Amino acid sequence: MTPAYSLLPTDWTAVCKTLGLPAFRAKQILQGLYKDCISSWEALTTLPGTIREQLAIEYPLTALKEVTRTPSGIDGVTKFLLEAQDGERIETVWIPADGRVTQCISSQVGCNMHCAFCASGQLGCVRSLTADEIVSQVMVLSKAMGTYPNNIVVMGMGEPFMNYDNVLRALRILNAQQGPNIGARHITISTCGIVPGIEKLAQEGVQFELSVSLHAPNDEIRNKLMPVNKRWHIQELLVACDAYTAQTGRIITYEYTLVHHLNDRRQHADMLIQLLRKRKARVNLIPLSPVEEFEGKTPPHADCLAFLDALLKAGIHTTMRRSRGKQADAACGQLRLRKIKEANHGTKE
Ligand code: SAH
Repeated sequence: MTPAYSLLPTDWTAVCKTLGLPAFRAKQILQGLYKDCISSWEALTTLPGTIREQLAIEYPLTALKEVTRTPSGIDGVTKFLLEAQDGERIETVWIPADGRVTQCISSQVGCNMHCAFCASGQLGCVRSLTADEIVSQVMVLSKAMGTYPNNIVVMGMGEPFMNYDNVLRALRILNAQQGPNIGARHITISTCGIVPGIEKLAQEGVQFELSVSLHAPNDEIRNKLMPVNKRWHIQELLVACDAYTAQTGRIITYEYTLVHHLNDRRQHADMLIQLLRKRKARVNLIPLSPVEEFEGKTPPHADCLAFLDALLKAGIHTTMRRSRGKQADAACGQLRLRKIKEANHGTKE
């Protein structure tokens, strides 16, 4: 048994051969999978019934099911909770902005990196997602929303480089011309700083965007926020990032979550400028999205703007993430965590 969404569009020619089907069936299958976004083989009525039955058994199409979605607010941000075959649940978010849509997808059920402010890691990592489940997140939402997203960011639950092969396979499928055909430069992988993953991606010959979660201008602060920094400290991480840029010519975006008094002062901005001013780098500032399990506070808006301003004045290309989907458990992993807590609470009573 091979899940349908784990195959690259080009693999279907060989599948048809194996099944003894003429080559034009591969075209019909791809049309059904990625143009009509069928949710069961039964719906692919251009194929004879016996073939549909065979495909349903050997190439199942039922990776993920929608459990719930948060009501989209005026900004249209909608967070979905999807369920896998084994009952595990993951989040994916639909984020419309300026006439385009970005979908944020998950790479693992939970996460083992234990960043202090991140809800996804609170309960550890249950397992990695298969390539099929990663692609399925996009297919389920595209079906529900009637269109593919323009951009994909692997910024949901999980650390993509702890599930390297499946993430890369899934992104290749999403990027494939006869598949969802989402442009490589519209696909962003975000890592907490797994150095071997950055080194490996540099050799892939792909055009995906890379974001690195830095969150601190020195090791002392980064150690407090991100245990991964004890394995690869900032200098080692930046050496890998420089090598990546040298190899690919691609500019890395550094994510920097602003936490009040911890990393949002002028001196922190100055240290960050020192780290990045000679590098090809972009910075994306993210005002902390409060989570119950972390005592840090979101800086006042004026402090965030002052930080942004300092970086811009130093000539560093910097953006600040708009606070979106607040009503919808916006931070990574919050919706799943809340549902698990509700369930546990329910059984105790
Ligand atoms: N594991 C990947 C993807 C994680 S989520 C990574 O670490 O990059 C994408 C970004 O959101 C990361 O930069 C992550 O650190 C950040 N993030 C997680 N929880 C947050 C919160 N509560 N407030 C602000 N940013 C958060």
